[in-house]
Amino acid sequence: MTSPADKDIHKPSNFLRQIIEHDLAKGTYSGRQWGGSPGDAAHHAGGQPDPAKVRLRFPPEPNGYLHVGHAKSICLNFGLARDYQGVCHLRFDDTNPEKEDTEYVNAIKDAVQWLGFDWHNNGENNLYQASDYFDFMYRAAEYLIESGNAYVDEQSADEMRINRGDFVKPGVNSPFRSRPVAENLARFREMRDGKLADGAAVLRAKIDMASPNINLRDPAIYRIRRAHHHNTGDKWCIYPMYTYAHPIEDALEQITHSICTLEFEDQRPFYDWLLDKLAEGQLIASPHPRQYEFARLNLTYVLTSKRKLAQLVNEKRVSGWDDPRMPTIVGLRRRGYTPEAIHLFAERIGVTKSDSWIDYSTLEGALRDTLDPIAPRAMAVLDPVKLVLTNWDEVMGAGKLDDCSAPVHPHHPEQGKREFKIGKEVWIERTDYEETPPKGFFRLFPGNKVRLKYGHVIECTGASKDANGQVTEVQAKLIPDTKSGTPGSDAVKVKGVITWVGVNDAVQAEVRLYDRLFTEAHPEADGKDFLENLNPNSLSVVTAYVEPSLAGVAAGQRFQFERHGYFVTDLKDHASGKVVFNRVTGMKDSWAK
Ligand code: ATP
Ligand code: MG
Repeated sequence: MTSPADKDIHKPSNFLRQIIEHDLAKGTYSGRQWGGSPGDAAHHAGGQPDPAKVRLRFPPEPNGYLHVGHAKSICLNFGLARDYQGVCHLRFDDTNPEKEDTEYVNAIKDAVQWLGFDWHNNGENNLYQASDYFDFMYRAAEYLIESGNAYVDEQSADEMRINRGDFVKPGVNSPFRSRPVAENLARFREMRDGKLADGAAVLRAKIDMASPNINLRDPAIYRIRRAHHHNTGDKWCIYPMYTYAHPIEDALEQITHSICTLEFEDQRPFYDWLLDKLAEGQLIASPHPRQYEFARLNLTYVLTSKRKLAQLVNEKRVSGWDDPRMPTIVGLRRRGYTPEAIHLFAERIGVTKSDSWIDYSTLEGALRDTLDPIAPRAMAVLDPVKLVLTNWDEVMGAGKLDDCSAPVHPHHPEQGKREFKIGKEVWIERTDYEETPPKGFFRLFPGNKVRLKYGHVIECTGASKDANGQVTEVQAKLIPDTKSGTPGSDAVKVKGVITWVGVNDAVQAEVRLYDRLFTEAHPEADGKDFLENLNPNSLSVVTAYVEPSLAGVAAGQRFQFERHGYFVTDLKDHASGKVVFNRVTGMKDSWAK
């Protein structure tokens, strides 16, 4: 692929680009120092002026495989960094013990790289894990206690919930809220040292129990949880809450623009409150990062939640995270999507500040538009029935095979030709024959002439059927001197052209015809369980015949099968001796109303 760096930089603007351009023009971050690695204020103060004009981050939680929604976020964050001479960090947000797994860590790295992005910048490896910041997060918590901005609350969970109030009712101060600093500090250290039971106490920020924003009613920032962490082992029995951890992670990494989805909008005041306090205490560098929210991707016919995708995998509704029907990046890749298609999709949908649904056809459209100019063409017969040219022996000679050729790509003659042979018997699509043709049917029916694409004109004479009335063989006569590309070949006019593959040199292939995983555009609308809307026909497997040129192709090669759409050799099951194609998408949107 062309590296993202050489891509067209004249991208349509959006509110995030405007914010960054404004900050660059104003020099908001121009005085920043970078200590060469994440760290506190002193660490960065001892560094160099940051060579990166902006710093962004993509912060997945390694608890599942990334999906097309994450792809939007990756293209956005890494794309902005690329376009504004900045860098983008890949940060594993692993502050929640128990859930994470190295299988996911590796899959996430692969996904980012496959999309064409890299976390190595200016000779640095900007791959980080949030759990490396636990020591700092603890220190920051003690600072908040010492500066009178946090307290240990020992109300029960129920009391805490009731005293938080709701949208119409202000909260009630905890009786522990006015504890002296020294007592808070001692108690917090006891929490850390394992002297208190899980759930017995939490550390809360002391902000405002009457705030109209419930997130500011003294949010919990540390909880007790005796859990083994994949990185820090059993060192900690207290863990920071996500809303506390995330701003600190951004600050230590000197992120300038912290982009997240809209559901975090109400957390922004706490994000700023926390970082303002830590900057006041000179624990983190100034100016601190700012959070900006954009609308998450909602795609019709698709689930974008790791938890729900995990359910499909665990209940074996699909063959795995990389099932070609899955909207995971590994699934899309195996389905035949290219990184370019996903970049184009991300660009076309843009970024906005209000939630909306993107039609699935936008994703497929981006795929077709990127594959059409590059995919080599081939003929394939997906539902084969034999066509016999009954006069072949007299016209062409018994046993004779005639050479045919076709361009690899109709717009790229320089890519050369594909070669195949026609003989007395060819495979055609079952649907290309009708005994009694409906109106407007121009293909095979008794007495009608059609062209075998890249071959000869033939005239249908009839068909044989089995006891059930199923056609077993179609018969036709070859019209002499009509072969494509030979002088006078178009003297006989026909209205229909059909694709075919020679019986003699056809390659048998397993073709997996994939369709949408759900029958409903909104699989969970009206409170329905998405499992009820699974499309029972999302996969059908057929034995097809393809052109001989496809005999030796490698896995992951994409083709346009003429008339049928785009197909890719399966990354997992295609091997020498076993040809397996996945249908990527049809030639056009067959779901459009
Ligand atoms: P999920 O609910 O699927 O687990 P998540 O948001 O919890 O999603 P994270 O691993 O925390 O998953 O996400 C990493 C980044 O990807 C976040 O910055 C988040 O904003 C972004 N992201 C996740 N889902 C989407 C989506 N549908 N559209 C755009 N960005 C998304
Ligand atoms: Mg999450």
